[in-house]
Amino acid sequence: MKAVAIILAVIVIFPNIHLPQSKQFPTIYVSIVSHNEEPLTGQYPDFVKNESAFWEHREAVVKFANMLYEEGVKYNFQSDWNFLLAVNLYDKGTPSTNGKNLIRYLKEDLGFEVDPHAHETTYNYADVAYLIHNLGVTPSNTVGGFIAYPPEDSKIEYFRDLLHGWHFNYTWKAEILWGGSTAGHKNEQTLWASGIWKPKDNENFLVHDDNAPLPHVGGYGRSWKTLEILLQKQQNGELEPDKIYTQTIFVSQNFMLNDEFIEKFREKIRELKPYEEQGLIKWVGLKEVVEIWKNEYGAEPNIYPYVSLEAEIRRPAEGYLYLFGREIFFSGKTIVIGRITVEAIVACDVAIDKVEFYLDNKLMRIDYEKPYEWEWVEHKVGQCKLKIVAKAGALSKEDEIEAIAMK
Ligand SMILES: [Zn+2]
Repeated sequence: MKAVAIILAVIVIFPNIHLPQSKQFPTIYVSIVSHNEEPLTGQYPDFVKNESAFWEHREAVVKFANMLYEEGVKYNFQSDWNFLLAVNLYDKGTPSTNGKNLIRYLKEDLGFEVDPHAHETTYNYADVAYLIHNLGVTPSNTVGGFIAYPPEDSKIEYFRDLLHGWHFNYTWKAEILWGGSTAGHKNEQTLWASGIWKPKDNENFLVHDDNAPLPHVGGYGRSWKTLEILLQKQQNGELEPDKIYTQTIFVSQNFMLNDEFIEKFREKIRELKPYEEQGLIKWVGLKEVVEIWKNEYGAEPNIYPYVSLEAEIRRPAEGYLYLFGREIFFSGKTIVIGRITVEAIVACDVAIDKVEFYLDNKLMRIDYEKPYEWEWVEHKVGQCKLKIVAKAGALSKEDEIEAIAMK
């Protein structure tokens, strides 16, 4: 009965595999990442002051990590400063970790990646890296979470510099970005994109720039639920065969305190076994997947957003002649004589912030509400370019047409 239930669960939860491994279906690289947080968030105890809470969490992390190891799954353990301070203070090794401290056990015995995570309130990334280093493990150069949006708060460019510790005489330099977020994770969906790319600058998280130094490992959301949606798209043939697709399953360290959570997690991994066997998904560490991206995908960027944003100039329609705002006939060229209301059609799964209207790259109007339009009365004669830019959170979409104006 139980076996039947599990089989049913597989059918219900994950889409059926229609074809054996095929070049049409690109691999989805999946990483498991966990965080603990500093005590001021109110979500975690002060592990330095509360040693028993530390041991409880340590044992939970060991259980979770062992389960992943047993299932052949990779893991990025990301920790903020407070928990690591407690490891430094209390953890001299136990039999459950082969006599090693937790961090050495995760890295040396299980082969997992250990990344710093910092909100940089009182300890910065270099400090957290030092706390890992001090435990006998070389910290990775992966940024375990950072603010990527809005632009005024973005730390994309900040991580290009060598960081000096605030508490410790230690330097650390980022090589990989992971977990671009909004402050407080508010309206974060527009930042979710499967793939790896190099974010251009603070203003342009979702724009690739070959000359930018740091690759970002994206994710299609951070849950089993959104992985399921991505797998469905893979099965529908909607993903491009030669591009890299990534996903992160994010786990709060608090969840690991619950044995049932760990067993449910194991079941999810087992449900995905058929996908794994066909090469449709592959479990990877974050540094590992960046190496794969460089070696197997020629570092070709992919930005596959979770939220779709579509924008189109609807009026003037391409190829039509307009006389004082009235569409006369199809002439093959877009010709506008006299005044016209330029209209944009914009569709998005989340709230649209604004639509900008440009004439020859000069901003003419910003419309914040539907219908998105601009009353074009300005004088213009000859060839010109009309462009719209729609924005929804971090997403941006353009459309442009060439027109001949006599106004
Ligand atoms: Zn955090």
